Amino acid sequence: MKDIFQIVESGSWSIENLEQLLALRGDEQKKLLSLAGNFLLKSRGNEVYYRGLVEFSNICTKDCFYCGIRKSNKNVDRYDLSDDAILDAAVFAYEHHYGSFVMQSGERDDPVFVDRIDRLLRKIKEKTNGKLGITLSLGEQTPETYRRWFKSGAHRYLLRIETSDEALYRQLHPDDEKHRFRKRMDCLKAIQDAGYQTGTGVMIGLPGQTFKQLAGDLLFFKNFDVDMVGMGPYIEHEDTPLYFRRSELWTPRERFLTTLNMVALLRLMMPDINIAATTAMQAIDPMGREKAVQAGANVMMPNITPSNLRRNYLLYQNKPCTDEGAEDCSDCLSIRLEMIGRRPGFDKWGDSAHFFNRMRE
Ligand code: SAH
Ligand code: SF4
Repeated sequence: MKDIFQIVESGSWSIENLEQLLALRGDEQKKLLSLAGNFLLKSRGNEVYYRGLVEFSNICTKDCFYCGIRKSNKNVDRYDLSDDAILDAAVFAYEHHYGSFVMQSGERDDPVFVDRIDRLLRKIKEKTNGKLGITLSLGEQTPETYRRWFKSGAHRYLLRIETSDEALYRQLHPDDEKHRFRKRMDCLKAIQDAGYQTGTGVMIGLPGQTFKQLAGDLLFFKNFDVDMVGMGPYIEHEDTPLYFRRSELWTPRERFLTTLNMVALLRLMMPDINIAATTAMQAIDPMGREKAVQAGANVMMPNITPSNLRRNYLLYQNKPCTDEGAEDCSDCLSIRLEMIGRRPGFDKWGDSAHFFNRMRE
């Protein structure tokens, strides 16, 4: 194989090159990770942006085969935070200088839900003097809904494509109108068209997934011109249909190491986007998120969901920090960042530089 430095220098991101780079381990992998980490430090500095994440409801109308809170899982205590609790979480994020707030939940698209989010967005803006950035991660909606929420104050939206390979996508979802790959893709486009900073992502190490498909995912991010990416290892959950394919899985370590390579390569391919160090990384390795930052990630999403409810938002098993309070999370993260020579970008929206570069073009 060609030298990593040569490939990076020439920007020749072919499927074949990426496939080989994703497989790097040992010293060669270390070289790739530190190349990407140092590249980020030099080009964007050592700030890592915080997004206070509130998982406000685990009620979901969908049935994705991998997810612990899918609607058919009867072993879940369903909850829905009150408006006041969500507003409190937003104010907490604001007062703790996170600069930015993410609202995530199971998927609903009924009018009551859509109106409620719209109302909440306006209230959050009001209570935080328009200063708190708001990101939504509320799944597939109509273009009108995306536009409406944008007008009411949300400016970033995260919708993972999960995998850019349609055949693999089909294996992970029921075969019905609510779970179509095309629809997900159209939604991502509608989000971009509505004016949001657009985030997507994939799971890594799904049953049957190949390096070639993951290389395709990296090229998909680039071709779609996304502003933000959140990628994490797939982690099995025993109350889901995909659990029955667990014998096909890579080891958790392999999924983790491949995720690090995905982060590093994406950083080199798209220098000005925001890349999240995801919680699922930490579920496998206690220093997972810090390692992701050292490989080129620049966003962390501390969980500020009230701690008594966190254990009910289990998309996967062994989810970390499900019994800690928000205060603990914020202190713990700053200390962890300091250990690796990074600092939190307090009070900043930490926008994707790529978004503004894209708008200028
Ligand atoms: N309902 C919304 C947002 C919540 S799910 C949506 O689906 O977009 C957020 C993300 O959690 C999903 O996009 C998926 O990538 C991730 N996720 C779900 N189950 C997972 C699992 N078992 N392992 C790792 N990530 C998972
Ligand atoms: Fe619902 Fe999202 Fe889980 Fe799918 S991934 S079941 S849409 S919460």
